Amino acid sequence: MPESYQNFIGGKWVPARSGETFESRNPANTDDVIGTFPRSREEDVVAAIDAAHAAFPGWRRTPAPLRADVVRRVGQLLAEHKDELARLETREMGKVPEEGAGDVQEGIDMAEYIAGEGRRMFGETVPSELRDKFALTARQPVGVVGLITPWNFPIAIPTWKIFPALVCGNTIIFKPAEDTPACAARLVALCEEAGLPAGVLNMVTGYGPEAGAPIVEDERVRMISFTGSSVVGREIASRAGRSLKKTMLELGGKNAMVVMPDANLELALEGALWGAFGTTGQRCTATSRIIVHKDVLDTFTKRLIDQARKLRVGYGLDEGVQMGPLINEQQLQTVEKYVNIGKQEGAKLLLGGHALSEGQYAGGYFFEPTIFGNVNYRMRIAQEEIFGPVVAIMPVSSYEEAIKVANSTEYGLSSSIYTSDVNTAFRAVHELEAGITYVNAPTIGAEIQLPFGGLKATGNGHREAGTSAIKEFTEIKSVYVDYSGKLQRAQIDVEHHSV
Ligand code: NAP
Repeated sequence: MPESYQNFIGGKWVPARSGETFESRNPANTDDVIGTFPRSREEDVVAAIDAAHAAFPGWRRTPAPLRADVVRRVGQLLAEHKDELARLETREMGKVPEEGAGDVQEGIDMAEYIAGEGRRMFGETVPSELRDKFALTARQPVGVVGLITPWNFPIAIPTWKIFPALVCGNTIIFKPAEDTPACAARLVALCEEAGLPAGVLNMVTGYGPEAGAPIVEDERVRMISFTGSSVVGREIASRAGRSLKKTMLELGGKNAMVVMPDANLELALEGALWGAFGTTGQRCTATSRIIVHKDVLDTFTKRLIDQARKLRVGYGLDEGVQMGPLINEQQLQTVEKYVNIGKQEGAKLLLGGHALSEGQYAGGYFFEPTIFGNVNYRMRIAQEEIFGPVVAIMPVSSYEEAIKVANSTEYGLSSSIYTSDVNTAFRAVHELEAGITYVNAPTIGAEIQLPFGGLKATGNGHREAGTSAIKEFTEIKSVYVDYSGKLQRAQIDVEHHSV
């Protein structure tokens, strides 16, 4: 019997008002049902926003160091349950347990980092132009915030939003991805266990248009923090814009790795393999384009094919598996579609290109590690996010051409360059149009103490994590304290002052 999960509203675990449910299944074996979950709709969302709204005055008055204490405890609980959660991730979304543990560790790191902000959350104190006047800024919570998350980092991404939102004094309505509601429910249960007051964090599970869209529409929600595809992000931004909500969008990527002739090729190959096929290519920062200088193209390509061919694909809980399945049927179809597009466009299929469905792969959404060669920057497989184990090798003749090709997509999340020339490395840091640049490392591997996000169609100018997290989840209050005992007029009285 699959476990029956509930929504978390006002400190209680409750079903959807309609009583309807949906299932979460193991993408490596769809006979394995992880649980049933409330199929929430507007009425459930409204109940959750009511609870968040009611809890806000009490939570905003709770001193920030005490709010941070709760987050610190959640971090400790995540550490205690790390292995269990990593295995749940493997079962629910397919990444291998080692990567699942890394995902949980990001949540632990975020708790540790952001709990410290409970005793910082700096404002500014600046001089006033007038005598006997004090000028400063203070950070205040935004209010009720709506957090909508994808399935590919089912613990980490929710913690990047929930933890800073809590420390800053906001109350929350959280809608996790329909593909990973069990991971989300475990995280919320740990927040409850850590002592979070009722109504401060509320979760509704369900489908985007039914359980996500009403959060965006509700006037009482003052901010949306969304991570997901650029298509849905655009829709959310335009809807949230009508009620002038603060809207933070972290969207897709088409991340490039540049390999120069002076690169340490061993290192570049290791990075390419991890960047392209880690998490089955289903990372927003996955390396989906490898831009290789023609001087090392043949060697690099041949060796990448050899190494990718050896990757062990399978169910992550089986011994020695390095790459798990895709998340669902739709994603499998998308990857197949792009492989066909690549072939039609004239790219050379060098490895893979097929779904795996026989034997151990029956009942799962498995796909071979796939490499295309001879890819031109105009091709759709070089422009559009595929979100699977497909990488495009793009030959170039110079550094200048490499940068031009790297910057030729609508996205701008992550980027990387392999070179042993410090001048080339620093030029690339300046010239790659991306929110993140790695030197001599693949496009994946962000640490939570630096801001995370991208340019162009990857977002709308916001950044998660690092010091940005506090900025995003607070409003700035500018405060003037006049202790002169008389009316002083800024800009007007100032020129009459003698020094
Ligand atoms: P998605 O389809 O855009 O969904 C993201 C979330 O939005 C899910 O919870 C989804 O619910 C919900 N949603 C869908 N339609 C909605 C609507 N009309 N109103 C409100 N919410 C709605 O993305 P995904 O497939 O889960 O994730 C993959 C994408 O995320 C990729 O493009 C990847 O690059 C991006 N991503 C970006 C970052 C980053 O930080 N830049 C990090 C990770 C992933 P359902 O689950 O029910 O569809």
